[in-house]
Amino acid sequence: MLAESAVPRLVGSAMIDVVRGSFPFPIKKRERNGPSFATLSSKPAIGTENAMPGINFDRIRNEITMEQVLALIGFEPTKRSGDQWYGHCPLDDCSSTRHRAFSVNVTIRAYCCHQCQSKGNHLHLWAAYTEMQVYPAAIELCRALGREVPWIWRW
Ligand SMILES: [Zn+2]
Repeated sequence: MLAESAVPRLVGSAMIDVVRGSFPFPIKKRERNGPSFATLSSKPAIGTENAMPGINFDRIRNEITMEQVLALIGFEPTKRSGDQWYGHCPLDDCSSTRHRAFSVNVTIRAYCCHQCQSKGNHLHLWAAYTEMQVYPAAIELCRALGREVPWIWRW
């Protein structure tokens, strides 16, 4: 009986290893988790996969401003034209030396670099700057600003 109980356990862990090694996505047990969970589940940081909470990204996007993100990353505009700011690209990977390659609209919270083609909203900018996926970047952004992370717990 000991051998019998040991076999399924071995098979089970072997299957998990095979799945992890062969596929770029986790086993789909349920569809409740969005794509952000799928990308993060390869390196679970908090407890088990099922216990990982979601993040209310709408609240982060709405309650954190582009100016706050720009201040965190130390962006100094070389030119301002109303809500449209221009300057050096703050991203490490960017080879731009042009003064206005990076443009950002602080009202609609969108940025674009004409050199490295990085673009998106302020959360995307923070993720690109910190070289993190959006999910951990959102957590880090809240902590950097001394805010509570707006978790969504799903059961
Ligand atoms: Zn750039």
